[in-house]
Amino acid sequence: MNSAKVTTSPLIGKAIGVLDMQGGVCEHIDHLQRIGISARPVKHSQDFEGLAGLILPGGESTCLARLLKIFEIEPIIVRKYREGMKLWGTCAGAILLAGSLKGEAAHLGLIDIEVQRNGFGSQLDSFTCEALIPKISPEPVPLTFIRAPKILKAGEGVDILLCIDDFIAAAESPDVLVTVFHPELTGSLAFHRYFASKCGLQSRADQPILDPSWNMTSWTRYARIV
Ligand code: GLN
Repeated sequence: MNSAKVTTSPLIGKAIGVLDMQGGVCEHIDHLQRIGISARPVKHSQDFEGLAGLILPGGESTCLARLLKIFEIEPIIVRKYREGMKLWGTCAGAILLAGSLKGEAAHLGLIDIEVQRNGFGSQLDSFTCEALIPKISPEPVPLTFIRAPKILKAGEGVDILLCIDDFIAAAESPDVLVTVFHPELTGSLAFHRYFASKCGLQSRADQPILDPSWNMTSWTRYARIV
């Protein structure tokens, strides 16, 4: 008699990691902890064990791409992604994940989008606004764009979550989320909740989606006002 076939499920963990090489790391960890998700910085190959998801934060994509190469982290991200780890790239992180970059060679290439770096101009052309993104939140989501890229095109299998004027601001495939803005620099927890659920993790339901203590006039602070 044949013995029952044992099928193994993909390696899924319980924490979300934040790539800790450069950029907005502690802001993402703070947001994840507010919604009760176990979160930790990820720097070395052993740090990737047991992660359900990984956030590639905003910062400077050329610098991040160099560090990924120097520390040989690129192949680990690709392997873990293939094993089931979900990915979310914010701003520079979205640039790293894009399948194609206008006028430059792509980096990880894990989502079929075309991205133009610094699509709005210089740092001085940074701005905030808000938008209704029904899949993410029933309330308008505050958005912070800092020397942001534009997503110009999304390929097959990529859902557009938010389009503003001539560009795509947020999109996703089944395993990868990309936002060209920074939810971690606002009082909104909606995107972090959404990413946690994409990773199969349950976040705290007793937190308001928009932290009432958040100082909405600043994008530089991340700590709660006590
Ligand atoms: N302009 C930066 C880059 O090209 C991204 C800026 C950001 O992450 N806020 O990498």
